[in-house]
Amino acid sequence: MELNHTHDPAARSWLASANGPGSDFPIQNLPFGVFRRRGSTAAFRGGVAIGDQVIDLAAVSASGVLSDLAADAARAAAQPALNGLMAMGPAAWRALRHALFAALRHDADATLVSALHACLVPQSAVEHSVPTRIGDYTDFYTSIHHARNVGRVIRPDDPLTPNFQWIPIAYHGRASSVVISGTPFHRPHGQAMAPGASAPVYGPCRRLDYELEMGFYVGPGNALGQPIPIGEAEQHIFGMCLLNDWSARDHQFWEMAPLGPFLGKNFCTSVSPWIVTMEALAPYRVPFAHPADEPQPLPYLDSPANSAQGGVDVQLEVLLESAQHRAKGVAPDRLSATSLRHQYWTIAQMLTQHANNGCNLQPGDLLGTGTISGPTYEEAGAIVELSLGGTRAVALPATGETRTFLEDGDTVVLRGWCEKTGAARIGFGRCEGTVLPAVGG
Ligand code: CA
Repeated sequence: MELNHTHDPAARSWLASANGPGSDFPIQNLPFGVFRRRGSTAAFRGGVAIGDQVIDLAAVSASGVLSDLAADAARAAAQPALNGLMAMGPAAWRALRHALFAALRHDADATLVSALHACLVPQSAVEHSVPTRIGDYTDFYTSIHHARNVGRVIRPDDPLTPNFQWIPIAYHGRASSVVISGTPFHRPHGQAMAPGASAPVYGPCRRLDYELEMGFYVGPGNALGQPIPIGEAEQHIFGMCLLNDWSARDHQFWEMAPLGPFLGKNFCTSVSPWIVTMEALAPYRVPFAHPADEPQPLPYLDSPANSAQGGVDVQLEVLLESAQHRAKGVAPDRLSATSLRHQYWTIAQMLTQHANNGCNLQPGDLLGTGTISGPTYEEAGAIVELSLGGTRAVALPATGETRTFLEDGDTVVLRGWCEKTGAARIGFGRCEGTVLPAVGG
């Protein structure tokens, strides 16, 4: 992915809120989502975030201000889900991004400025839905640090399974329980086996956790039986979002041998409203390599481009806001911070692995990276790691509380952004969710 004028850090918009130094949505970002005015019964439609506004792509399409491929892409994006836009592929995505960039820049043609201005809706006045009709959701497991941290809880003598360094491991998740950020969920019931017990018990989860992840959406799919070579993988990826794979550890650890995660994972998965496109992420790509003394990727998972810039340096953080934080009016506590660049496999390798047996991916499918934990304790992406399997209390300094797992009323907020010298800072917004009491008590 080459840099172009839409990545110019000096570019400014005529919309002042897009030019603030801390804005997640400057003109260089232009992430896609689906929205409508909050409380309305209007159909959801595609939108693009700019500053503190959303560009209504249905209104843009109806205005007739765009032409050619950009107009076709805007028409596809005017729908209640972005599957159609994603199916069109990188040329259409680029045409729409570049047309919107041209219409938003500070020196844009007055006719374009007027037309775009009429299509803006304040972000504070909108609500979002999950941005695609997700046919299938797959969650990978690609942080070696997370795998070792969690593995130590389950298998202290042998934390890393022998396949981890050879295969981007994943399980098939549940698309129906993927929810948009801000959707609360009930603490799940399930079956758990306590250490040393002779029989499991059924009841509300006692070891509820979050997982800091990123998701990525499939663009054009592949026909059943036709693998996607790694050199073409990123042509099939529309963009990335924040993702929280809420996890019931007590249920998960009891049920997952031998077939993998099931009910401990599929009661709720939260995604952020905004999808940052791969073109917008181009300035923040970083080299990928396995350490020289560890297994190297098999040829089908290896390419010069993947080695040169397969990684993405996305800064990530996890915040916890409890009921006490809200009652006292204090800011949430930060639990951890890390970067996507530490993952053991790249998104291109994940996509290629998913399709290598001929499994057909479809436009709008959601793939998760797995928990993103960096190499140090402070970079752990789940509370089961921070609490060492529930044996060490995690402090919440703002309220004086502690946690080993999540309690009812806790809101977990994920944030992500990219910044580096010589490039604009762009952000992913927020992905948050709140734990409600178990149904029936
Ligand atoms: Ca996960």
